[in-house]
Amino acid sequence: MTDTIAALASGRPPAALAIIRISGPAAFAVVRSLAGRVPPARRLSLCRLVDQGQLLDEALVAVFPGPASASGEDLAELHLHGGPAVVAGVLEAVTAHPGVRLAEPGEYTRRAFANGRMDLAQVEGLADLVSAETASQRDQALALAGGALGRLADGWRTRCLDVLAEAEAGLDFAEDEADVAERLDEAARGQLTAMADELAGLIADSARAMRIRDGLTIAVTGPPNVGKSSLVNALSMRDVAIVTPVAGTTRDAIEVPIDLAGIAAVLIDTAGLRDTDDPVEAIGIARARARAATADLVISVASADAPGWPGDSGLRLLNKCDLAVPDVPADVLAVSAATDAGLPALRDWLASWARNVVRPGEPALLAHARHRAAFAEAESALRDAALAPEPVLRAEALRGAAHAFGRIAGRIGVDDVLDRIFSRFCIGK
Ligand code: GDP
Repeated sequence: MTDTIAALASGRPPAALAIIRISGPAAFAVVRSLAGRVPPARRLSLCRLVDQGQLLDEALVAVFPGPASASGEDLAELHLHGGPAVVAGVLEAVTAHPGVRLAEPGEYTRRAFANGRMDLAQVEGLADLVSAETASQRDQALALAGGALGRLADGWRTRCLDVLAEAEAGLDFAEDEADVAERLDEAARGQLTAMADELAGLIADSARAMRIRDGLTIAVTGPPNVGKSSLVNALSMRDVAIVTPVAGTTRDAIEVPIDLAGIAAVLIDTAGLRDTDDPVEAIGIARARARAATADLVISVASADAPGWPGDSGLRLLNKCDLAVPDVPADVLAVSAATDAGLPALRDWLASWARNVVRPGEPALLAHARHRAAFAEAESALRDAALAPEPVLRAEALRGAAHAFGRIAGRIGVDDVLDRIFSRFCIGK
């Protein structure tokens, strides 16, 4: 018999409320023993929770009979007062019940998946939703959790199976009506190539989806002491990077997450990019150069009180414009990390750059390497099918493409990735 699992589903106490979820065959027996009754389904009912004559809390209790519950099993939620002693007392009483134990991370969702309540792409979307920090990450995660990718992959799977059915019908022609078979063959090749091209477009767009999820990278580069760390601090409005008047003290690349009008980005505060004899500093510089080389945007910073204009790449900034006011070239933004002058314009520039790169209003669904790999596999199978010299080989390749799409929803061949996907969840989810 399946274990019944219990866990705190809300944040760490103390808090205004705490929610304990209980899922499994003994869930309602636990509620009956604590509350004295099983209240009406899918409604909140005020109950006194009593264990061995001891009042533990007055709580709102909701029960959801399986299989139409979030986990697909009998599920109960206890909405408690969020004090540490309340939560500890109730959890202890719940898990003392026979057949009930504390849940593992992600175990409720794992049961929902096992019971067919959600497909694997929805599970991934849910994990993204719980960790989403910006509006565009949230929108993308909601689309994924709502099943948009599963529907897209299912549509593609059906298309592949339709072509497969035609290809198999075509096998019968081959014997006696060679010219009909040839015409069918030509049409099928064209159709398969068009499908593969369409997939290639979706795959190319996955870089955008991944950037929405992982954040854009922006390297802030320039000589020592021009104010890179000060700018990173000013932009992130946090004191993360260490600002000192001594040249070369930012030894390592420091990454600071920022929210660019709803789009996630990471500012990389590079060590002063200069030659040095100090081996520790040299390591920081090598790493900074490597990060800067792969960043989505490089901000080149120079200082108004030192000779030299900012480098040519990416966005050019002249900092410390509170000290001197030189005639700046048109494509150089004059700012001051000390007085905040020019920083609103800098934020606007970055936000509109970010919007251009990720186009947050347009749906982008292939946000995970797993999704991209499955679509890429299907694309190459469709190209194999288009080039197949024999109908039998074409059918084989088409079955491969359909199989790749089936893996998106997790219907087949995903045993190896399940542990990794569910390990992203916290306990109680
Ligand atoms: P980094 O080496 O490029 O990261 O430079 P820092 O951010 O550590 O700044 C070097 C020095 O310049 C520090 O003493 C900062 O306080 C100062 N500084 C940074 N930005 C400005 C600015 O806009 N105006 C002035 N006057 N000083 C600044």
